[in-house]
Amino acid sequence: MNANQNKFIGVHLCLSAARNGFSITIVFSTRIGIHTFIAGSLEKAALRAAELGANTFQIFSASPRMWRARAPDPEQIRLFRKARERFDLRPLAIHVNYLINLASVDETVRAKSILAFRGELERAALIGAEYLVLHPGNCKGQSVEEGITAFALGLKEAAAGFEAGNRKKPLTVLLENTAGSGCSLGSRLEELQSIRELARDLTDLAVGFCLDTCHLLAAGFDVATQAGLETTIRSIEESIGFTQVRLIHANDSKTPLGSRVDRHAHIGAGHIGLAGFRRILTHPKLRRKAFILETPIDQPGDDRKNLDTLKSLATLPLTKASRVMKP
Ligand SMILES: [Zn+2]
Ligand SMILES: [Zn+2]
Repeated sequence: MNANQNKFIGVHLCLSAARNGFSITIVFSTRIGIHTFIAGSLEKAALRAAELGANTFQIFSASPRMWRARAPDPEQIRLFRKARERFDLRPLAIHVNYLINLASVDETVRAKSILAFRGELERAALIGAEYLVLHPGNCKGQSVEEGITAFALGLKEAAAGFEAGNRKKPLTVLLENTAGSGCSLGSRLEELQSIRELARDLTDLAVGFCLDTCHLLAAGFDVATQAGLETTIRSIEESIGFTQVRLIHANDSKTPLGSRVDRHAHIGAGHIGLAGFRRILTHPKLRRKAFILETPIDQPGDDRKNLDTLKSLATLPLTKASRVMKP
């Protein structure tokens, strides 16, 4: 694995053809990656992503199941940034801690969530991440509208006085769609849009969206079929639009359409399937987005396998590609 090889995958190849033996293929998606783990060292997470053949990645900046987190060591940050530059790993997304619920009615959970999210913002800016991915929380005990307001006010409180860092490339908070189990907010795209609008009024934060394919299917968007994907694309266009969709979490789903249960499956082994992912990765509205896997590692090597599968699905033989690319 060397830096140039990795760069090749990342080149904007949308319309350029690459000779591959006797056949010509077109690579649509420019940025394909995976969630890796810091396991004691930030740098290791970047090196692991490069070693697997990713050119974008996601991490947790601290333990995802603990409230407390330490600020990362400056020397570690330096090595991490160097590794990202060397292997052209961008964008970097940080997924926030699982405990954070900015929409909670419980005062203790809410206060802890605001404090923890402030820590997430600060670490993400220090580390140099482009995106900080956050679920809109759980509104148990209140209406959806009250939950959305509570969430946006929580964002405001957490972000008070926060400098997003380098103004040319500020940190963007991405609201992720959810599967919609229980009282979780964000399974309807209109909810995500309302949160973004409120957040823009209440804070200086840059706010965009992350769409998770498994969560979409579980929430009732039939991204597995050609007709269903087209209907989903229209729904996205009419609600949140595509400009602010910065990241796609590419996960197959163990549970069927509309199950409202969030269980990630290996690419091709779930209810979306290989053909479904090929259509998603090569769709004109989606193919320039960054795709990041959050698939399970049941066996050693599952991470590499899922990444290789995703990369191969983003590539079409020229004849097939020219059909797909017609408007
Ligand atoms: Zn996700
Ligand atoms: Zn999920």
